[in-house]
Amino acid sequence: MERYLIKRPANINPTSTTTNIESSTPTNINPSDSTTTESSTPNEPRAAPRYNSAVPELIDLDKLPRGPFKRKRMADYHPNQRDQIRRKYLTWGPHQPRGFKFPYKLIGKKNKSKRRFNPDWFDQYANWIEYSEKTDKAYCLCCYLFWDNVKDNHHGHDAFVVEGWNTWKNSERLVTHVGDRNSFHNRALKDCDDLLKQDQSIRAALHKQSEMEKNEHLIRLNVAIDVCQHLMHQG
Ligand SMILES: [Zn+2]
Repeated sequence: MERYLIKRPANINPTSTTTNIESSTPTNINPSDSTTTESSTPNEPRAAPRYNSAVPELIDLDKLPRGPFKRKRMADYHPNQRDQIRRKYLTWGPHQPRGFKFPYKLIGKKNKSKRRFNPDWFDQYANWIEYSEKTDKAYCLCCYLFWDNVKDNHHGHDAFVVEGWNTWKNSERLVTHVGDRNSFHNRALKDCDDLLKQDQSIRAALHKQSEMEKNEHLIRLNVAIDVCQHLMHQG
């Protein structure tokens, strides 16, 4: 599974890996920033739809809700925009408000104990776990991004995707969510990885193209200089 991990040091601006893809990324995106908060603004389209169209409207990517709270299902976005939205969320990284004061709650029926979200999980499961300050629950970013792509239904219901997980004392639940090599989660992680690799190959192709254009320009310039020198010698 290690090869599927999206390595991203916590104190490095994640947008630096996606230069030129989305130039309008907000600046407050460091996931380790204690001031990171979830937007409570629901993800409304910019203009109110005039018709009851079956195809959702295109949205402004910068108005996507950052935290897991009130995120729409991927299937509810325009099909042509879903990969852009996935890339945007992957660029931002999982919503990990590390400086947040995670509230305690009593867990258990007979022997109640005070538990809360453990911020160490942000390091242990750095590439997927998210926390919502609004709901005091944990979620999985990768499974959220690819959940609707699954044709079969046998993976059924998963708290990390659907309503959030908050039984903090059962931390083995994090391990079972990850599962084996072919688990839904690990396939979703690979899909995330593939999507980012696609971006890298597109960027590499664009870079190559611009290098070629630069070379062609230089060749034309050199020819022009040669012609000028030749004319000057003749004159
Ligand atoms: Zn997952």
